[in-house]
Amino acid sequence: MNASLAQRLADAVGPENVKTAPEDLAVYSFDAYSEGKLPAAVVIPSGTREVSAVVKIARELGEPVIARGAGTGLCGGAISVDGGGVVISFARMHRLLELDTANRRARVQPGLVNLQLSQQVASSRLFYAPDPASQRSSTIGGNIATNAGGPHCLSYGTTVNHVLALEVVDENGDVFTTDVDDAGYDLTAVLVGSEGTLGVVTSAWVRLLRSPESTRVWLAAFADIESASAAVSAIIGAGIIPTALEMMDAVIVKAVEAAFHAGYPTDAAAVLLIENAGFEDEMDAYEAALREITRKEGSLSWRAARTAAERDALWAGRKGAVGALGRVAPNYYTQDVTVPRSVLPKALRAVEVAASENDLVVGNVFHAGDGNLHPLLVYDKRDRRQVGAVLSTGDAILRAAIELGGTISGEHGIGYEKREAMTRVYSTEDLATMARVRDVFDPR
Ligand SMILES: Cc1cc2nc3c(=O)[nH]c(=O)nc-3n(C[C@H](O)[C@H](O)[C@H](O)COP(=O)(O)OP(=O)(O)OC[C@H]3O[C@@H](n4cnc5c(N)ncnc54)[C@H](O)[C@@H]3O)c2cc1C
Repeated sequence: MNASLAQRLADAVGPENVKTAPEDLAVYSFDAYSEGKLPAAVVIPSGTREVSAVVKIARELGEPVIARGAGTGLCGGAISVDGGGVVISFARMHRLLELDTANRRARVQPGLVNLQLSQQVASSRLFYAPDPASQRSSTIGGNIATNAGGPHCLSYGTTVNHVLALEVVDENGDVFTTDVDDAGYDLTAVLVGSEGTLGVVTSAWVRLLRSPESTRVWLAAFADIESASAAVSAIIGAGIIPTALEMMDAVIVKAVEAAFHAGYPTDAAAVLLIENAGFEDEMDAYEAALREITRKEGSLSWRAARTAAERDALWAGRKGAVGALGRVAPNYYTQDVTVPRSVLPKALRAVEVAASENDLVVGNVFHAGDGNLHPLLVYDKRDRRQVGAVLSTGDAILRAAIELGGTISGEHGIGYEKREAMTRVYSTEDLATMARVRDVFDPR
């Protein structure tokens, strides 16, 4: 550890906001995907000026900078892969700075937890739409960096559709701003999803939506995954875009029901959790149309949540699905691929074959309306055979998705996990073009 680095960082943000002891650094050496190496230092700045100072110091001393939100990322983007580097944690930059109800927007610091934003604007009958299943802990900064999706992004769009302006610290430590209303190139959209490779986001204006008058949630159960997948295609094909359309298979349903007791049917091979938000007087017709489509595709049962508590319980099950799998095995690996909706049954079969060939249990819980699969491979990382099996199953799923016309990430990002896999879907020229974009922002 470079003593001058520690001293200069301490001068910039206060010694209590710089961590250099190995036991403190260890906390920042992993994310929800994997464990990396120890960074040289972790700093916890209080505002943009301090972030700028930290980046300038890191640059001068030749240390890379790694931005970090809540560390829920699933591709290793927030960790030091080779060891060293300065991690900037946004744990102290977590405030809602301005609420502009007239224009339905809010200016937030990057460390604000996603769900807390919606909670803080709820009394103004507003909410922030992108809702990753990690929304109780993931931050707006991390969501912007990964262009996070979530169950409600089927109808509302992913994070990129909800970011209006950004304040960013560049590789020199200089501050610049972007705004979607700027004439010329839409640099805001370029920055969203760039996983911290183009700059560090220090604040953002985000779009807020009016809370709907009415929200209904339904659960359709199926005897097999194929008919549930066919129902998804039929719903969207009929021109109906529910606010959310999520699928869970039997492995997930059993784990979720044991954990949440929300009334999920444990004898079903697959369930669709369907939500629609809108005007109350449209809801009955909407439900009738959905129910008829699912019936035609062979649904076993249809259930409507009768109360807000029932609705919340069903959603708690969906959003807590990953945690509930802790009942099945101590570790999990989530693959994240997207395929055209029409080939969902083929993709799910490929997942099943890959897992069974490697003797692994797989659960599927995913944003079916978007064709975004999240096969969850459960395993015990103390068993080397199982670790190897998870890696080869994950790879087989990636290969299958590409062969079916899909791609290597729906929403979790590339990080260091999928850097190599980029060559499977992009040509050398494509990657060189991306590198040129990066050079504009950060040539070093
Ligand atoms: C149980 C579970 C469920 C999940 N469900 C979903 C889901 O439904 N949809 C989804 O999209 N993802 C999901 N994820 C993945 C993860 O939560 C998202 O990628 C989330 O956006 C990461 O936010 P974070 O604050 O944890 O960021 P981190 O993990 O800390 O960082 C993620 C990336 O963002 C960069 N970054 C962080 N802050 C900044 C900043 N201020 N400026 C520049 N770069 C920055 C980091 O360098 C890193 O590359 C899930 C994860 C878990 C564990």
